[in-house]
Amino acid sequence: MDLFEHEAKELFAEYGVPVQPGKVAYTAQEARDIAAEFAAGGHPLVVIKAQVKTGGRGKAGGVKLANGPGEAYDKAGAILGMDIKGHTVHKVLVAEAYDIDQEYYLSFLVDRAGRQFMSICSVQGGVEIEEVAHTSPEAVARIGIDPLTGVDRANAAEIVAAGKLPPEAVEGAVELATRLWAVFTDEDATLVEVNPLALTTDGRVVALDGKVSLDDNAAFRQEHARFADPTATDPIEARAKEKHLNYVKLEGQVGIIGNGAGLVMSTLDVVAYAGEEFGGMRPANFLDIGGGASAEVMANGLEIVLSDPSVRSVFVNVFGGITSCDAVANGIVSAIGLLAERGEQVSRPIVVRLDGNNAAEGRRILSEANIGVVEQVATMDDAARRAAELASLAATGA
Ligand code: GDP
Ligand code: MN
Repeated sequence: MDLFEHEAKELFAEYGVPVQPGKVAYTAQEARDIAAEFAAGGHPLVVIKAQVKTGGRGKAGGVKLANGPGEAYDKAGAILGMDIKGHTVHKVLVAEAYDIDQEYYLSFLVDRAGRQFMSICSVQGGVEIEEVAHTSPEAVARIGIDPLTGVDRANAAEIVAAGKLPPEAVEGAVELATRLWAVFTDEDATLVEVNPLALTTDGRVVALDGKVSLDDNAAFRQEHARFADPTATDPIEARAKEKHLNYVKLEGQVGIIGNGAGLVMSTLDVVAYAGEEFGGMRPANFLDIGGGASAEVMANGLEIVLSDPSVRSVFVNVFGGITSCDAVANGIVSAIGLLAERGEQVSRPIVVRLDGNNAAEGRRILSEANIGVVEQVATMDDAARRAAELASLAATGA
């Protein structure tokens, strides 16, 4: 999960990473009121910043200085509603503006290829770091970090020295880097980026901007739910998550349920390929119901997949392993019963392919249950073709 700048800065502040004081406004009036508070405190100059989860806001006109409440009102009004790289601006950060002397770059991230962490530091900040790396690669330092020992003051000093920050910024940058490292590790982030890391004219080093990506796999041991952005998540994905289902919404018409991530991935490919023959039918989702495949999990899976109105047929592709096919077949039969009890009569066709452990018994159970919407096909390719065909027939109303 990526955070908004103002959220990143709230986290920074908790760890003592220096940031400008600021508040979020949803309307120009709110921006004016916040600016009035700063003015009353002796700081009439504020910076109004579009809060969207993308970079390059400054270039796009989404970051503006404003002198006093009146200007804050006008500039916030101009920024709110703006479109920045496909993101609509719904809120702005109104912060006390600082007088900037120099702009640097500092980040911590996961270096997957190197199986370690990494810091990137540069004396040339404020612009996109990829651009700096392209035009003056010698100005961008990449320093590997041993995950077992992390970053102490000595490491932080090495990072800052490698980034060639000038002497007047060193002390502040080292202090900030050690605190930023604490944000990175304690919050289970995969990226913390400060661009620009600014040296103010009065000699302070502050995080003028903040980008944080949190590792969702660590959500169970963090308090990150407060950052969840309900407007950004697909409603079906949100409900799937509540049911602990591994579901990803796609744009097609053939609902997919399988056991094991690898099998489901290849099912998506096979359905997309087969669908070309039937007017471009495509998989509607990824759903891995895992090894268990109990009736309840199958019912929840079917319910989620069928709650997508673009789904016209469903392909259940199961390879029996530890959970054998007879158990899965019983699961499917009970699932359809469970859904009927929940008031959801299943009417869209379900193509089932069972293979692996106890496949024959599983197929027998399904045939004997004699469920109208369920059709069995023996092989994965043929089942994918049939599911795509049924989806295309439903699409044309045949
Ligand atoms: P980004 O363009 O999305 O990365 O947004 P930033 O937060 O990095 O802001 C872009 C630029 O606005 C910075 O590089 C600064 O040059 C400028 N800026 C932001 N805040 C201030 C401020 O408080 N004072 C001054 N003078 N410039 C600022
Ligand atoms: Mn920036």
